[in-house]
Amino acid sequence: MKTLEDIERVSLGIFPTPVQRLENISRLLHTQVYIKRDDLTGLGLGGNKVRKLEYLMAQARRQGAEVVFTTGGAQSNHAMLTAAAACRLGMRAVLILKKRGVTACAGNQLLEKLMGTEVIFMDTDDYEDIYAEMDRMGRAMGVPYYKIPCGGSNALGTLGYVRCAREISEQGLPFDHLFCAAGSGGTLAGLALGARLFLPGTKVHGMMVDTDPFETITLRLMREAAELIQADVPLTGREFDLLDMCGPGYAIPSEEGTAALSLMAEKEGLFLDPVYTGKAFAGILRMAAEHAFAPEDRVLFVHTGGAGGLFAVK
Ligand SMILES: *Cc1c(COP(=O)(O)O)cnc(C)c1O
Repeated sequence: MKTLEDIERVSLGIFPTPVQRLENISRLLHTQVYIKRDDLTGLGLGGNKVRKLEYLMAQARRQGAEVVFTTGGAQSNHAMLTAAAACRLGMRAVLILKKRGVTACAGNQLLEKLMGTEVIFMDTDDYEDIYAEMDRMGRAMGVPYYKIPCGGSNALGTLGYVRCAREISEQGLPFDHLFCAAGSGGTLAGLALGARLFLPGTKVHGMMVDTDPFETITLRLMREAAELIQADVPLTGREFDLLDMCGPGYAIPSEEGTAALSLMAEKEGLFLDPVYTGKAFAGILRMAAEHAFAPEDRVLFVHTGGAGGLFAVK
């Protein structure tokens, strides 16, 4: 049988990331709230994409790729971290980004400029157009190239968060609830599969920050990732539940999300972002207000990063 350790991985981050208790927020919500600091993964400004990229970049390197393509919105944290990983590994990153969000030299665009990353904006709403353009450009370059999907969310990238669930299981505290943002679904899928394998008794909650069909996307990624590591567990979709925290739309700040971001800053001196983690943490606040947690429950919020985008909000 294959295990997680049999899948090739390149070291890009600093692990394990800390788990900390949020004293003031715990008191406020009358339950035990902890934070998994995946905003401190150690590459760029940190964030969840580092764990995925450890698997994806290993495969790119093994295949002899000289160029790595990826995509996302103009302020994609994933695209910026892919560029950072390419810098570290001596590969060339080309980002073909959707022309949506802040395209000016701020936030992640500024970081990409500092790294000398090649960034192309494409005026399309369909990622398929962008993947086709990657193939066209890659063939024209005449060198081996590797395509990473939006958010790094394929089966291989998902393994990064299976590994994170195992890491949490080794950090000593049993959790009743685990929360993360769901943007392209890989983080949630990895944590839900990982919890099925390593965290029995932990309920996994995906906080949707986009309007995609996450029920299907997440279950498909879980099944494909389970196949890669030959984890023979029945998966039904009941390994996670979903809460719609998107508000007015993807990458458009919501009132609830902005209030959650302020609360975290004021009470704990920690910064969330308006696109993902603010909205995800707002889900915990909403459920606490609905008395979803007992006073002794341990609730773990996975801070997935987003610092780059914090400085480029419309
Ligand atoms: C990409 C991202 C997410 C969402 O993760 P997915 O695996 O795409 O669902 C959450 N938070 C931050 C800061 C991100 O950059």
